[in-house]
Amino acid sequence: MSTIAENIAKVGTRIREAAQACARQPETIGLLAVSKTKPASAVRQAYAAGVHDFGENYLQEALDKQHELSDLPLIWHFIGPIQSNKTRAIAENFDWVHSVDRLKVAQRLSAQRPAHLPALNICLQVNVSQEASKSGCSPEQLPALAAAVKGLPNLQLRGLMAIPEPSDDPAQQSAAFALLRELQESLNLDLDTLSMGMSHDLEAAIAQGATWVRIGTALFGARDYRSESTQETSL
Ligand SMILES: *Cc1c(COP(=O)(O)O)cnc(C)c1O
Repeated sequence: MSTIAENIAKVGTRIREAAQACARQPETIGLLAVSKTKPASAVRQAYAAGVHDFGENYLQEALDKQHELSDLPLIWHFIGPIQSNKTRAIAENFDWVHSVDRLKVAQRLSAQRPAHLPALNICLQVNVSQEASKSGCSPEQLPALAAAVKGLPNLQLRGLMAIPEPSDDPAQQSAAFALLRELQESLNLDLDTLSMGMSHDLEAAIAQGATWVRIGTALFGARDYRSESTQETSL
């Protein structure tokens, strides 16, 4: 078994145990493998071990990888910050976007979604930790943004996404995830998706209702942050 296949098995066990601990069905929690900075060969190994959904943050890197992997039926999720001049390529090449945080970006994605493709699945990213440096709309902005996005023709509003401030304190992790769940419930829009939980806090996220956990490090190992920042600035 490759290391990646072993890691997938371990993460699968963590997901199942976390689901059992809160009496949820493990099948209701999707594993989104975050492959940013990792080569196409790593995605191929993960696919061979049963993963179909992959998350990428940097557009050019994602397009290159998609090209190399076009023989596989992968489902691609864009999870990084979105510059509005990048929306066309995102609308054309992804199945999901988790990081929509303003109406202008949503309007462009809807207008630029090719007619032959199904509606683009959308999560609205919410800043649940009120950190000035993080992207995401504020909880106060969310209801108006959600109502407007719900009305766009070529998007399917699925739910909410958050990247809380990293914390080792389970109570603090849970509070941030619970806030996202409560915000989703209070919208009353029949949403089915909560994209929350990463390598270090997936258990807390699952306990609060996560339907996608976005896992990078625990599957593919630590990232080389020098190349990550190079890719970011080269966009
Ligand atoms: C990088 C990234 C992840 C994965 O984080 P890990 O801690 O490596 O599991 C998840 N979500 C987003 C939005 C990311 O940018």
